Formats: sequence, structure tokens, C-alpha cells
Amino acid sequence: MRSKGDNMDKLSDLGEFKLIEKIADKFESDEEVYKGIGDDCAVLKKREDYTLMTTDMLVEGDHFNLDWQTPWQIGWKSIIVNISDIAAMGGLPKWGLVSIAFPGDIEVNFAEDIFDGMAEASEKHGMKIIGGDTTHGDLLTINVAVIGEVEKENLCMRGDAEIDDLICVSGDLGKSWAGLELLRAGKEGYTDYYLQPKCRLKTARRIAPHVNAMIDVSDGLSSEVGHICDESGVGAEVEKEKVPISNKTRKTGEDLDIDPMKWALSGGEDFELVFTIPRERFSKMEGENPVVVGKILEEGRYLINSEKRKLGRGYDHFDR
Ligand SMILES: [Mg+2]
Repeated sequence: MRSKGDNMDKLSDLGEFKLIEKIADKFESDEEVYKGIGDDCAVLKKREDYTLMTTDMLVEGDHFNLDWQTPWQIGWKSIIVNISDIAAMGGLPKWGLVSIAFPGDIEVNFAEDIFDGMAEASEKHGMKIIGGDTTHGDLLTINVAVIGEVEKENLCMRGDAEIDDLICVSGDLGKSWAGLELLRAGKEGYTDYYLQPKCRLKTARRIAPHVNAMIDVSDGLSSEVGHICDESGVGAEVEKEKVPISNKTRKTGEDLDIDPMKWALSGGEDFELVFTIPRERFSKMEGENPVVVGKILEEGRYLINSEKRKLGRGYDHFDR
């Protein structure tokens, strides 16, 4: 319900992260909740392990476009974005709940294709969809909630970074936004990753016992490093030249005359992992091929090239 009070600020002015802060302030936590709003997943205490819970909503026109994406791809992506959050905590996805609002004119086949995409993404990652809800709406809107589990020793929080940790990423960045920009421009090129993204669940499980802080890339590297800094009470420096960008993404940048570094730092939806690890434990990463892009500092946030300058903001859903 819209407020009729004095506060007439628009969501677009406030920004998504500020809105989350406002909402978080309204809800009390309790001793069963180890971490509520403010990380990749909520963390509940239960028995020996922790339970992870996360949810993501995709809205037609904002998070997907029916002109570019098949219903199967939309269903696939709606599951992957959630499993990526479970992976970022070091956990395993167990159960999913799906809620969808369908516009009245959608065909049954279309709806079935969405669920097929969901089923394949879930099965591939060992998750079962156990419930949900469907209703009608003006725009196709999909909400997926996922419940996962993580052993205490594998739990990776954004707030666990330590000063002098190395900041690493699990793979190349900017690949998703490059595809989106191509589609927006109506051009041919590398759009596969944007249309059917992957997540790093297996990698996350292997590295979780060794890393300190971890987060998945949904809003771009600068935004994710910023979240780690906020939650850990530390600073960071990222070396621009070390940020991994693939040749395909660079080619897209050339075709569109856009610096692909912008997509890597502020694009998003790559669903790679950003994690911090003490130098002495880096040898444990053998075989995982992480890229070291910077280190954790006591304070300040810097993007370094020849001269130091501050990291820019990430993509914000309300900041257009
Ligand atoms: Mg996340």
C-alpha cells in the first residue's frame, strides 16, 4: 500500500540498497536467526548445521524480455539466480518454492516451458521444487524462494573478510551485461551467457572451507566488493588491469564502442563468486583458477590503475 504521509520520495530516488536498509530496520530478529536481511541468504540456526533461505523476483521488462528470451530460459534463470546466492554462502540448495503471476493471455505451453526450464536448472543442482503459487497479473512476474543447508565450517559470510586478505574472482566478468547490451542494440553476437547464465555451486562448495568472505556477482564487482567492505568493516583496493574479461566480451565492447570494464565493474548477473582468502591459504585454491584482483585494506575503497581512484557504484535496480 502506498503511504500518504509526508514522505513522498520515489523508490527510484531512494535506490534499492537504501530501501533494503529501511525494510531491515522494521523487522526484529530473534535468537533463531543467525543473519537476517543483509547477506546473500538469511541464515537460521538449526541443529548442527545452518539453514539458508533466499528469494529473488524477476519482473517482465525489467529482469527479462520476452522478445529476446524463451520462456524456458526465463525459468532457468529464475532458479540460477537463487542457487547462486546459496552457493555464495558455501551451501547446497535443497528445496525451492515458486510463485508466478501470469498475464491472462499467456498460453499453457508458454507456462509449461517456464516450469521446464526451472525443473532442468533445479535438477542439475540437486534441488527439488516443493511448492509455490500462481496467480494473474499485468506483467509476467516470477518469484523463487530457495532453502538450502550449510555446515557450520563451510558458512561464508560477507562480513568475514580480514585485513590483507586477497580478493579473488572465480571467472571472467562482464559477460552477461555484454550480451544484454547487444540485445538492446538489436545486434548479433555473444548473448548465450546472458540468456542462460551459469552459477558456481561446485566451485563454491570446494573453496568454502578455505575462504573468509564470499558473495556472488549479481550487481558488478565494485558493488560486491563494496558489500564485503560494508559488512566486514574493512576497505579494499581492486587492480583494474587484473579484472578478468574474456576475449568475447572485449569483442562485444569493440562492436558497441563501450569499455567492457564498465560491465565487469558495474554490470552484473555474471553469477561468478567474489571471495577473500588469507595469502597463506591461497595454495588451497590449486585447480580452481581464481583470479586475484586486489586485497582487503583497513579502510578506503580504491580502483587502482596508474593513479588511485574510488570504486564506482554497481547497477542498482531503482537507479535509472
Ligand atoms: Mg547474492
